[in-house]
Amino acid sequence: MYIENPKYKNIAFSMISQIEQFKIVKNEKFNVCLKSIANAICSPLKISYIKNDKIESLQKHANIKIYSTPSPEQRNKYFNACTLRKFANHYFLTDGITTEQLTAFNDIVKQATAAANLLLPKTLHVIDAEHIPQIYSHKYTNENNKEPFTIGKLKGLFIGEKSDINMSCMQGKPANYFELYTDLNTEESTLKIAILTQGNEIVARALVWIDKAAADIDRRKKQNPSNFYIDRIYSKTQEHRAETQTQLYTDLISYFNIKNHYGREPTNKIHLPPCYNRYDIHDKVEAQQNTTKQILFSNSCPFDIELNSDSYNFYPYADTFQHFDTNNQTISSDQNSGSEMLRLESTSGEANNCSIECEQCNFEMDEESSIYIEEDEIQVCEDCATYCEDRETYITTDNAIYNNHSGHYHHRDDLDI
Ligand SMILES: [Zn+2]
Repeated sequence: MYIENPKYKNIAFSMISQIEQFKIVKNEKFNVCLKSIANAICSPLKISYIKNDKIESLQKHANIKIYSTPSPEQRNKYFNACTLRKFANHYFLTDGITTEQLTAFNDIVKQATAAANLLLPKTLHVIDAEHIPQIYSHKYTNENNKEPFTIGKLKGLFIGEKSDINMSCMQGKPANYFELYTDLNTEESTLKIAILTQGNEIVARALVWIDKAAADIDRRKKQNPSNFYIDRIYSKTQEHRAETQTQLYTDLISYFNIKNHYGREPTNKIHLPPCYNRYDIHDKVEAQQNTTKQILFSNSCPFDIELNSDSYNFYPYADTFQHFDTNNQTISSDQNSGSEMLRLESTSGEANNCSIECEQCNFEMDEESSIYIEEDEIQVCEDCATYCEDRETYITTDNAIYNNHSGHYHHRDDLDI
């Protein structure tokens, strides 16, 4: 059902008055009835208008009276609809204006269009993991892939230039960096990407990890919240960030039919799926649930994800599943270390080794347990380092001489032998 949106009308009026401030003159031939302009019936982004001549002629020849608030039928039948840009081009005479005026004109129209776009509802789409590389590698500012793209029925998708999604460190990276996301062991786990679109713009995205085979996810049945993990939610607008993140989270709960009252009944607690952004959205989610029951959801992921391979050519930076155990081909949030562990925390397509080699004996060790020897500028294992009391620092064990008398170690160079 159509309703006039007063916010849209304000955007249109404000666009006109802002342009007028730049002394750009009105096109007298385009004598539009300003009182009756509104959002169009055919598209919430278009402006609906009628010229005064037409109102007069309808009155005169057909005895039809158009008021400042016409009925939707009249608007549909007698009004025209076009984009704000086209309207501004009709309404003002832009031939012969100065470069400054033209720049101002274009900026104002662009801002009005963006403001109108913000009035559109945000819609959730849950997309299969195979499309993650395509979504991630799109970047507005990259010359090669700034073109809008299509995923199934979703056509003309784009991410705005100034959007924080576009600023995310992995956005715009080559598609092959995200290969790992398309190679899950689907007998065990499922990965989806959830996006919120407003018009054709992607205004939020998050990976959705599911501890279940894709074939076993039946959305007609209640789903267990602990089988889900909503990863970091990247979103567009800074001011409404928490609202947008909350919408993506709660829309996902409805989409997957995630069971709220999990556990023993009766219960005074509502369990929700864990989410990376738990602390940002908790209060808003709680308010939205409108219940006196306690809302429980954590920010940590309770499960690991199995992959099909123990190595990849490229690796993504991962927000949550940062630890890749190449031994059992799983990624997890557990901070395990060892020679078989890789850390997915690089934005340049590589994975970092959790272990380093001792520069003295070549033993593989955790980076955290290594000791730096200032004198030799080397990183060594605990066995190759010895604390020297005289120098109050670590020296290599090769240089340490034990003093039976004091029970201390001395540096070989400090002894007169
Ligand atoms: Zn060593």
